[in-house]
Amino acid sequence: MNRPVAIFLILAASAAAMLILPLHTGRSAPVFAIPRPTPPDKQAIDALVEQLMGTLGDSIDDDDLIASIGRKWDARILAGRTKKQIIDLLYADLKSVVTEKETQDAVWKSWADIISDAVSEDSTPANTSNAGVQPPAAPVRSVSFDDPTERGIAVPRVGGQWILTDDLKRTNAASEMAFFRSAYTAVKVWRPEKRQYGGFSYTVLVATDPLDQNAQGKITGADKAVKAVIDHGFILPNDLRFYCSNVVGTLTQAFKRGDNWAPIAWIVLGDGGSTKALSATSAGLNGFDTRTIRAIHEIGHILHERYEGDGFWEKGRTPNPAVSAKVSAYGCCNEKEFVAEVFTGLMIGVRWPPDVIAEYHRFHGPMP
Ligand SMILES: [Zn+2]
Repeated sequence: MNRPVAIFLILAASAAAMLILPLHTGRSAPVFAIPRPTPPDKQAIDALVEQLMGTLGDSIDDDDLIASIGRKWDARILAGRTKKQIIDLLYADLKSVVTEKETQDAVWKSWADIISDAVSEDSTPANTSNAGVQPPAAPVRSVSFDDPTERGIAVPRVGGQWILTDDLKRTNAASEMAFFRSAYTAVKVWRPEKRQYGGFSYTVLVATDPLDQNAQGKITGADKAVKAVIDHGFILPNDLRFYCSNVVGTLTQAFKRGDNWAPIAWIVLGDGGSTKALSATSAGLNGFDTRTIRAIHEIGHILHERYEGDGFWEKGRTPNPAVSAKVSAYGCCNEKEFVAEVFTGLMIGVRWPPDVIAEYHRFHGPMP
């Protein structure tokens, strides 16, 4: 065990307990899931909100209050929730505006029929039919302003403000999914293959139409990358997928959040990569080739997002240039690339100096 790895592990120990909780082990995932309630589609959600809004005038006299409730409701991401969950959430918003208990109760009472319809509809299981070449839907996860953000506060955006709102989450996730969909839909046929290592499973999907002639190298790289990461004590992200495609314009990229801010761990392996990155400059080190190093770098982005939480999405942060220069020219100007490059180095046996490790921790680089 070399020195940076030793430091890495000592520092890991203190944080380990916090880490295990938010990550899925992948071992306990049931093969046959219990059918979940069908989340209503956008049209049904809009209709429900409109229906609830229509009742407010019966219990609340003040139009300004109703308008404030409406603004709170508009700001909510409701997709992916069941009707009853939506009603509970909207009622909590209402209670933050209407403080009088009597009025709150009157509204809840006026919703009785809507609530009982919602509960019976929610208990109808989801229809799981597959829609041809549609991109896989991101798993459903509810979103809330109450999601933990505390880890991001260590390096706040300029001005000391911390403002990752539902709207920004929506924008970030939409942009991630737009890039993913363009890579995904450029391929007519994907051949999926389940793979396993160290008790974890992941999936490699190879483009067969048009065929990715470089797929074999990418698959080998993905396998070696997964092995390196697990051997260093990391928990593999749940449902990790590698999409191998060499359609022109397909980038090598990691996707961390999908529709409705659901955590996803999808990596597209295109053909390209930066000549300034470790995947080029450290190729051959300890037997790690370019393809493997690229795959490790992308896994590093996903683990970083999981480890840092909402703080990952903060903007305007840059690593100390004198420190990042010791890593790679690719990680110079963006803390996400810096972290992914340092992580990659740790996985392939680079001995980083202490100031690099300290800077890595400052940006909440992932720890096992
Ligand atoms: Zn990167």
